[in-house]
Amino acid sequence: MTSYRLKTTPPPVVSLVGCSNSGKTTFLEKLIRELKFRGYLVGTVKHHRGVFAFDIEGKDTWRHAQAGADTVALATPTGFGLVKKLEQELSLAEILEYMSGVDIVLLEGFKKGPQPKIELVRSEISGSPVCSPEELTAVVSDLPLELGIPRFALTDTAGVADLIEERFLKGFGDVNRQALSHQQKKRYHRNIMLPGVGEQGQLKLLKSSALVVGAGGLGSPVAYYLAAAGIGRLGLADADAVDFSNLQRQILHATADVGRLKVESAREKLSAINPDIQVEVYPYRICQDNAAELVRQYDIVVDATDNLESRYYLNRACISAGKPFIYGGVLSMVGQVLTVLPGRGPCFRCIFRELPAAKAVKSTAEVGILGSVAGIIGCIQATEAVKFLLGQGDLLVGRLLTMDALSMTFQEVEVKRDPACPECGHLG
Ligand SMILES: [Zn+2]
Repeated sequence: MTSYRLKTTPPPVVSLVGCSNSGKTTFLEKLIRELKFRGYLVGTVKHHRGVFAFDIEGKDTWRHAQAGADTVALATPTGFGLVKKLEQELSLAEILEYMSGVDIVLLEGFKKGPQPKIELVRSEISGSPVCSPEELTAVVSDLPLELGIPRFALTDTAGVADLIEERFLKGFGDVNRQALSHQQKKRYHRNIMLPGVGEQGQLKLLKSSALVVGAGGLGSPVAYYLAAAGIGRLGLADADAVDFSNLQRQILHATADVGRLKVESAREKLSAINPDIQVEVYPYRICQDNAAELVRQYDIVVDATDNLESRYYLNRACISAGKPFIYGGVLSMVGQVLTVLPGRGPCFRCIFRELPAAKAVKSTAEVGILGSVAGIIGCIQATEAVKFLLGQGDLLVGRLLTMDALSMTFQEVEVKRDPACPECGHLG
């Protein structure tokens, strides 16, 4: 009988109040259309004081449904109502529970209650608000009111929808969102146009998560491009503070960031480029004790570290959690990338079996690194991550891609799983 998805929390509620004939229903119709256009599922409840039949053509609830409300309900002053599709009496709290599959419930005509309110005031009807300004979220009026809250013109439904989106919807319905908002359609238009991506592919990215370990030369392009592409939740781990010597390649950080934690500087830049996503930061180094716990929380892990120990720990944690791991390494003018899908191709340890003695390993601090070389390798890693999350294309599984920037040549070396690998040999 009902197809509503039940969530544990009820949807946010915005009520519109105003005296009769203030234009509530007309305004609400436009607001419903605007929110529907942005991809939200909208429920409405009409407050009524007397006998009020549900589906009489031209009546308020009928108009809500015509405007595109997914569920429509009536409620009486004593707190009882009727949900159209259930045809039984329910309390307002129960109505909201049945509307828990929708993104927002718009209540019309409720003058009491804890819900945020949009007040409608029109000069020819009323010169003062029905509610106290403290109770109001905004006023919609053609009067020059100074209430210290946002004021909109009667025609500005898009402005009210923006406010509702910002205050009540952002982050709330993302998990269950089945459609992109109007703004997201614009932001990700070039992604959406790509063959095989479309709006569903973009939704998939928005529901995905990636852990980027390292916020330096590789981590900068990786995190920038994953953030811009709309990977919904990005984790960033790095224990270091920004140093002057980092700025030549670590483009997440600016001169003014010297001395700040890299993850803090990075979070600022990533949120600026895409406020649509969530950025979680871990200001510590990956070690044996914390790798598994971090890896567990993400769909994919991108290695942007500058040391072999961290790679070993990450590789091990990814193998045991069954999470994909994208290795990237750079030094001087060369770089390499490999994508590890546990059990389906070689892991990092299949190829680099033993941890070499510390002095045998050269670092970028000793031999240098051209910033753009780290940029290219990081971009390849970001591309692999997006392809994996979309489930598209051929990944660098069992193919170690190496680049020599001086000769500008790329080589692909076939690498195989080692059945005796201490990390992934047991996967068979
Ligand atoms: Zn292995």
